[in-house]
Amino acid sequence: MDFDVVVVGGGAAGVDAAAEVRRRAPEASVALISPERDLHYRPWLVYLPAAAVPETDLSIPLSGIASTHGFQHIQDSVHEVRPKAGEVTLSTDGRRVTYHRLILAPGAPADRDRIPGAAEHALYPCDRGDAGELVRRLREPTTGTVVFLLTGERIGPGLEYAGWSARAARDAGRGSVKVVVVEDGDAMDRQFGVQAADRLVSTAGTLGIETVRHARVERVESGKLVLASGAIGADIVCVTSPLRGPDLGLPAELLDARGMLKVDATLAVPQYAGIFSAGDFADVQGLGLELPKTWMMARLQAVTAARNAVVSLSGGRPAALDARKAARMAAISMPDVGGRTVFVRNRKPVLAGSWPLRMRYRVDAKYLSRYRTRPGATRPAP
Ligand SMILES: Cc1cc2nc3c(=O)[nH]c(=O)nc-3n(C[C@H](O)[C@H](O)[C@H](O)COP(=O)(O)OP(=O)(O)OC[C@H]3O[C@@H](n4cnc5c(N)ncnc54)[C@H](O)[C@@H]3O)c2cc1C
Repeated sequence: MDFDVVVVGGGAAGVDAAAEVRRRAPEASVALISPERDLHYRPWLVYLPAAAVPETDLSIPLSGIASTHGFQHIQDSVHEVRPKAGEVTLSTDGRRVTYHRLILAPGAPADRDRIPGAAEHALYPCDRGDAGELVRRLREPTTGTVVFLLTGERIGPGLEYAGWSARAARDAGRGSVKVVVVEDGDAMDRQFGVQAADRLVSTAGTLGIETVRHARVERVESGKLVLASGAIGADIVCVTSPLRGPDLGLPAELLDARGMLKVDATLAVPQYAGIFSAGDFADVQGLGLELPKTWMMARLQAVTAARNAVVSLSGGRPAALDARKAARMAAISMPDVGGRTVFVRNRKPVLAGSWPLRMRYRVDAKYLSRYRTRPGATRPAP
């Protein structure tokens, strides 16, 4: 099989990249390779503990998206990328798929080995299987204390999961469930700024969530999270990042210490012409700022990677990611803590109340309506 452009990954970045390539080059043959049948709207995973949206509304069949946007979905995972040969091989039967341009957007799963003991004793609910397991265990009548550890490069989902888990317990009248948020080091201060972090802690407190600030995490053991200051007994310990790059068999010199793909400001791999990356897997260098690993940022990168793949097919020069737009996006956080939020810009609290959440839900609805072929929820149930 040979395609003008092959996109690896069927998430935020991969789907937008494939659609954007076809929009810019309607004659181009484009394949998107993803092992999943559906596009999963990951930001909504946090609503599952409270069943605030139907689980089916998180998923959109890739077959429908592919036929609407004119690309082919190959349901398989990539076993190996062979940059010198201009091909990838598929996991199921080793088949080769050749490309003229390649966009790598395989996301970044949790790095389960970074915290000692966590691989055995913690859940990583940003990975879909563990999200289901968290929901199941939260509903067990014996569940008492649930700890969410905020660590690594993406702490927002941990805070959101804590909020919606507390909401679920409260709505079910289960006062015996205690939700505790543990901040590893200064993870909250770094992301939100000191003032906004304090405001978020108070917001979480209105849902009965206890917060342990500035902890030094040592390890997870069966039934406890061990900190330098002592242990917290827990029926469930959840960790939402750190993240790592998935193994695509790429040469080690192309990857950073976390296994993410190093790309320049045009999202191209400098060592091999014709390979671009977008989304959580991309370690974008040369912009002078660290890009957060978010859905919005993945989409911004996808458009740039797609444009550069198309331009380079006809011998044009790739352009850099819009650094000002990326910086504006990177400056904003708005975690949905059980239906409450603090809108944070440039690490300062700007606004609380319902307006920022309404804005956030409008963004969700706009995105989902782009790809959905049947109606579904556009916001969590109040
Ligand atoms: C619980 C949670 C809440 C979040 N909340 C927010 C939020 O509120 N706002 C926000 O902006 N961001 C949020 N994010 C972050 C956002 O979801 C990610 O940044 C975004 O999904 C990254 O997009 P991506 O395309 O890089 O990766 P993903 O969306 O993870 O997609 C990666 C795709 O690649 C596929 N893949 C993996 N390996 C292979 C392979 N070998 N071959 C082929 N395909 C492969 C996967 O199956 C998947 O389809 C949240 C994330 C989580 C998990």
